[in-house]
Amino acid sequence: MESEQDPDIQLLPRGTFMCRLCEVNVPNRASLEDHKKGKKHQKLCSIRETRKVQEEHSLFVSGFQHGTSELEITDHFQRFGPVSSIIMDKNQGVYAFVEYGSIESLQSALAEPEHIMNGKRLKVKPREKKEFKYTPKKKQAPSNSLLPSLELLSPVLCQANDVDEQMEKLVQLFGFSESEERLRELVISLIQEVFSEFFPECKIIPFGSTVNGFNIHCCDLDLFLDLEHTKIFQAKSKGSNEQTGVIEDTQSEDSILSDIDLETASEAEVLELVAMVLRKCVPGVHKVQAVTTARRPVVKFIHKDSGLHGDISVNNRLAVRNTSFLKLCSALDKRLRPLVYAVRYWAKQKHLAGQSSGRGPTLNNYALTLLVIFFLQNREIPVIPSVNHLKELAGEGDQCIIEGWDCSFPSDASTLPPSKNCESLCTLLSEFFNFYGQFDFVSSVICLRDRKALPVTAFLSNKEGKSPRLGPVNILDPFELCHNVAANLNERSEQRFRKQCLEAAKYCRSLQYQRKSAKGKVWGLVRLFNEDSVSAEGSPGVPGEVSQERMVIDIPFKLASLSEETRKKLCNSDDFRQLWFGWVSAAVLSVLEDMLKCTCCITPAALQYSTTAEHCAKLEAGEDPHTQLPELSTRVADHNEPSDEVLDGKNPPEVNSNESDTTASMAGESLNSSKRHRCSDGGASSCKKLRFEPENMAGNASWYCTLWHKVWAGRRKMRRDILRGLKASRTDENDDDNDGGGIDLEARVSEAIAQQERASGNTSEPVLNFTLHLEVVGGTESTRTLAVITPVQDASGLFQDFFHFLQLFLPKMTEKLLEKKIK
Ligand code: ATP
Ligand code: MG
Repeated sequence: MESEQDPDIQLLPRGTFMCRLCEVNVPNRASLEDHKKGKKHQKLCSIRETRKVQEEHSLFVSGFQHGTSELEITDHFQRFGPVSSIIMDKNQGVYAFVEYGSIESLQSALAEPEHIMNGKRLKVKPREKKEFKYTPKKKQAPSNSLLPSLELLSPVLCQANDVDEQMEKLVQLFGFSESEERLRELVISLIQEVFSEFFPECKIIPFGSTVNGFNIHCCDLDLFLDLEHTKIFQAKSKGSNEQTGVIEDTQSEDSILSDIDLETASEAEVLELVAMVLRKCVPGVHKVQAVTTARRPVVKFIHKDSGLHGDISVNNRLAVRNTSFLKLCSALDKRLRPLVYAVRYWAKQKHLAGQSSGRGPTLNNYALTLLVIFFLQNREIPVIPSVNHLKELAGEGDQCIIEGWDCSFPSDASTLPPSKNCESLCTLLSEFFNFYGQFDFVSSVICLRDRKALPVTAFLSNKEGKSPRLGPVNILDPFELCHNVAANLNERSEQRFRKQCLEAAKYCRSLQYQRKSAKGKVWGLVRLFNEDSVSAEGSPGVPGEVSQERMVIDIPFKLASLSEETRKKLCNSDDFRQLWFGWVSAAVLSVLEDMLKCTCCITPAALQYSTTAEHCAKLEAGEDPHTQLPELSTRVADHNEPSDEVLDGKNPPEVNSNESDTTASMAGESLNSSKRHRCSDGGASSCKKLRFEPENMAGNASWYCTLWHKVWAGRRKMRRDILRGLKASRTDENDDDNDGGGIDLEARVSEAIAQQERASGNTSEPVLNFTLHLEVVGGTESTRTLAVITPVQDASGLFQDFFHFLQLFLPKMTEKLLEKKIK
């Protein structure tokens, strides 16, 4: 057994293993072998070996005089043989380890009956052998965890007299002290000095939180290495060399610039060079790493003495400019800083911003700050003007175009008129939560340029690749107008953010927020900042999630599988989601009705969008049903709202005998078991079809559905049998729908299963009643239709089986129908 051979490895139940040395579990023997060959395991083995040798060659020495130096100890013990190292307990000066190069030397030192040094008798014995234990290095704390804990903040904040004062305190507590600012300046000038040697006339420009007015202790040090003048310098000296034949400094072999032509070098090449300079020439810098594959490539480093973590980029002029914009905003209104600090801390506590805590992607501090500014731009009396307005106020010297984007705004806030808005910080914070709690992130693009939320469809068409990458949260950069700074967020992050805003808004309406507790209880910001519990995180509509028997199936929006024509239709529509949702709803219904032979009746929610009988009739009369979406059609079963009994599953929906042909035929089928095996030809010839009018769809629709047979049981085999039969009887024509997965084939499979059931006398009752609620959620890239399926009556306990079948079948068939028919 492995554990017997290798004491590091322990065999665990179910064939898994644990490596005691590295403290990791591995799932099987193959992974164990890989692990043992891996870098970490090998390194730890070698460290352990070295330690073992060190221990065997070392003496433990104590009893010397306080203040004895390493040299004195070496002098004394070298008499017995060469000493390879001395490790002293420097703090207390009470013991030392003396390591010899050989065991013989060690033994002869041990054989000495007495060791006297500076008149003191030494205690000398072999060094104790300790079991080697791997202690993993502590992970670098994410920048947000540099913020003080709430326990520390709480007493300070609770002493304040009101929320405004609490917020001002946050700024004092979080922001740089003078010495911190000075330290950063020193590190920057050190780097500037060294880099000037290698890149003449370069400039190191700090940006980000170091200088944007929203600094927190130990935040990272973002630096931009401006090589514009160096490039000119290099070009000039190249030119003059060619003219004079004299080789100047930058062209000499020693010059770093002789290795690279800055004008033509790639960003990655320049960064590699920057990394080399940092690594080799800047004192006190370590852990230098060029990250060249990021969206904004950087060289990362740590400055040891200050503990600062830094990033150097060479192609980030826009970030330098947007930093100045944030700085201007914080100078324009002094309420911005405390608001940003409060929102940042709240977001950190709720795991909505900063380093991801395993609950999905989060907003970064830049995006969060833009959200606060946008909110302030949208107060009834704006606190901060739109970026366009600021551009108009920019003087001649403030004009600035970067990468084609207009980044002009005034450099001096004092030249601008102050806002007339005089709302308190307490009110503004609470309104921030109200604002975003009700904000329609999904269909809007937050645009600070216009201080407006623009509809997402305005950004759908890809104009020369200048459209932002849209998602469930869209915050357009104020300058780089094709950049969504929140593009990393997913639907779940958006839901969590809004949910937390709503909860915060609710809390802010309470007296506990607004007033200091007279009884010494925590109040105001402290309660707002209370950390979120994981259990409160459950988000509705997670695919496949079982929650109170509601089952959700996810039908994602797959742009790639749609034809060019369909995409065009989407772009030209006012609301692409609704249009797509209309198509999906029609397809879903077709899957249920045509393929699975369910009967589906519209329930109240669906009535919001459903066409009235007259409207349908009009549509029917005016349209050629075969011109557009001929198969993506549905039958309107019953325009009456089902009664409570219906929804309870006690009675199926009633039929209105006066309804139009269409409704009556469908409703009749849903009720009358003798009629329900309709359309056995697989088509809908007997039922008049109504075309969906996707423009009229609201974002959701509901149906009451009855499933008459166990259409999932033995389905695959039945499909195989039918296909085999079809192949055998097929003549020359190639019927697309019979090729597997078409409506006809699936309808035949269901029909065959139904016949089987009837043959075994199993026909009287519906198998299941359930409601189907369709809802569209998400942004362009994460738009999806969620199909919520809830059993209404499941006496036979078959719902789970049906749901599991539908989980795969419904999205697959819906996608097929969409691909095939909307082309
Ligand atoms: P902190 O370092 O405290 O998290 P920060 O403002 O420095 O805050 P960073 O993530 O370090 O945030 O980013 C540094 C700067 O880079 C920002 O201030 C901003 O100017 C720019 N930046 C960051 N993220 C983006 C983004 N998604 N789009 C555009 N610019 C960004
Ligand atoms: Mg930063």
